[in-house]
Amino acid sequence: MEDVDVAIIGGGPTGLAAGLYAARAQRRAVVWERGVLGGQIAITGTVENYPGFPDGVEGPILALDMHRQAEQFGMETKYEGITSIKREPEGSHFLLDSPDGAYRARVVIVAAGADPVKLSVPGEEEFTGKGVSYCATCDGAFFKDEIVAVVGGGDAAIEEAIFLTRYASHVYVIHRRDQLRASKILQERAFANDKIEFLWNTTVEAISGADDVDAVTLRDVHTDERRPLEVGGIFIFIGHHPNSELLGDLAKLDEGGHAFVNLWMETEQPGLYVAGDVRVDSARQLASAVGDGVTAAIRAERYLQNEYDPAG
Ligand code: NAP
Repeated sequence: MEDVDVAIIGGGPTGLAAGLYAARAQRRAVVWERGVLGGQIAITGTVENYPGFPDGVEGPILALDMHRQAEQFGMETKYEGITSIKREPEGSHFLLDSPDGAYRARVVIVAAGADPVKLSVPGEEEFTGKGVSYCATCDGAFFKDEIVAVVGGGDAAIEEAIFLTRYASHVYVIHRRDQLRASKILQERAFANDKIEFLWNTTVEAISGADDVDAVTLRDVHTDERRPLEVGGIFIFIGHHPNSELLGDLAKLDEGGHAFVNLWMETEQPGLYVAGDVRVDSARQLASAVGDGVTAAIRAERYLQNEYDPAG
């Protein structure tokens, strides 16, 4: 069993920011990442709304730089998933399991982020990786001169639809309402883009094809009329759900699975923090994700110094 001071679950911006601060506080800070470092920004194109980058910054590059910066101060990285977190039966530490071993941590910061919500329609699972994608930055280039569809009306859907016009000949944005929730600046850009066509009040009922996606079945939500639409690919951006399963009974969750925390990212368990997209009321922005990680790490350091009295 290895001892760590600050165990950080998730190597996205929240976890990397927490790791930077914990390492600079000279704690043994370990980040566990089961997928790709950077989380959602690793699969984002140009980030234009992170302060300090007036010309924008490529998400994957920013992710690697955040990681390098934290490692320079001693943060360690383990490319494994944590499979369980428990409180030590006697004592104040947490016990963590992962495929590479067991760990004992004084503080745990859960910054496990969120995964894309699935449409849950026939064909979605079957054609994932064969025309169904949740990442335009990763897969867009495979659709050169093809017709593709994007599902959703939020920032992610509109931003990625614009990105896809670099490759695709035509991009349908299929949205279940007649108004977008995406920010106005993105809306204006999409409306001005000749390659983008909006299909309002429309849902996708099924995804079909032979080897790869050939078509989707659309449904008009007002008339219930169904019709096929030929597309070579479909990109689904209908939100994310938090990766909070690991928390088990350690923290209270809302109906959507987000953990309740206070303004310091503290759960009711002393030493357990939840930050970023996993917590309730997150602004779900890169800048706020980083802020959450910093807040959790600063509070965790106070806790480690025993300056913080949970009963006080
Ligand atoms: P989101 O803002 O929650 O939008 C989800 C979209 O999917 C909504 O338009 C929603 O429709 C639609 N939707 C949800 N469930 C659906 C279903 N079952 N079938 C069809 N459509 C469905 O999610 P997001 O776009 O992933 O963004 C998440 C957060 O990240 C947001 O806070 C966003 O601002 C942020 N973000 C920011 C940027 C940026 O600033 N550049 C980029 C990406 C993401 P309704 O509108 O009808 O509910």
